[in-house]
Amino acid sequence: MNTSTTAPATPDQTHPVEVAPGIFRITVPVPFRSLRAVNLWLLEDGDGFTMIDCGFSDDPTKLRLERAWSEVLGGKPVTRLIVTHFHPDHVGNCHFICNRWGLRPHMTQLEWMAANVALKSLYSDDYELRAEFWTRNGASPQLIDLYRSETVLYDSGVELTDDFQRINSGETITIGGRDWLITTGQGHSPDLATLYNARDDILIAGDQILPKITTNVSVWPWEPLADPLREFIESLDRLDAIVTEQTFVLPSHREPFHNAKARIAELKHHHEERLEEVIALLEGHEARTAGDLLEPLFKRELDGHQVNFAMGEALAHLNRLVFEGTVLRHEDDSGLIRFSLASTKH
Ligand SMILES: [Zn+2]
Repeated sequence: MNTSTTAPATPDQTHPVEVAPGIFRITVPVPFRSLRAVNLWLLEDGDGFTMIDCGFSDDPTKLRLERAWSEVLGGKPVTRLIVTHFHPDHVGNCHFICNRWGLRPHMTQLEWMAANVALKSLYSDDYELRAEFWTRNGASPQLIDLYRSETVLYDSGVELTDDFQRINSGETITIGGRDWLITTGQGHSPDLATLYNARDDILIAGDQILPKITTNVSVWPWEPLADPLREFIESLDRLDAIVTEQTFVLPSHREPFHNAKARIAELKHHHEERLEEVIALLEGHEARTAGDLLEPLFKRELDGHQVNFAMGEALAHLNRLVFEGTVLRHEDDSGLIRFSLASTKH
């Protein structure tokens, strides 16, 4: 088979790889610079295969999927599609895959609804609403220009089906003789599904637990007083209660790894350090915007798409501290939102 591809080169595999008995990893590129690629999974499932996640919807990715299917399926069909969450690199080719194999995607209800809202550019993904919200949180005009010129719009990489089949946290799905417990997580997306098989100690983690990089946890314009970091940490705690030191984690980005518990502990520690950093950055200032904190917090040049994540993440940590009582949030008459340490306020 011709393995040269029109897709941009990634450091990841061109061919599917069997990472555990009957579980194949497909890696396809994504147009987000920091992520580079997303992992999709094909699981042997009796007379067919269950596929998990879809990849960003564009022609090179569809070609990569066709090639992966021809290499893995051995003439069997894909008989089920499970989508972990609504982000474009996960749900993008939903329509393509379902149309190709005659399927209805299995998703949690909130992820299905979030995908629909984002696809129609309603509240959750309105381009101008974001620009306005980042501006009110102190993003510089240059940053907003960057955001406008480089942000990847949701509908550029997502095609949905007309309907879906609901999965719920706490349910068990049997795939090829393995029972997978569905646990959902919040903070990164509304109700992200992870799948855990206790017998073989394997976790299909979506974006909930990633190696090397940290999952984006953001405050978005449509819920300015959200506390997604609390939700994210609570979700990690729920996973921590079911995984082990040996758990083989299949993450959506980067390489599979062992020991889910150690990574969960690292991630929790990372966010605790970030909260302390934010407090230190507020010290000695009357009040600062989230935008004021970007340079010291991220220490690298952001691309336009990352502006969203950096602003959202700075706000997630600021809001957490507001809910803790350490920080006060001020909104002035012009709508500008600033934060100060509670202890410096008299
Ligand atoms: Zn995601």
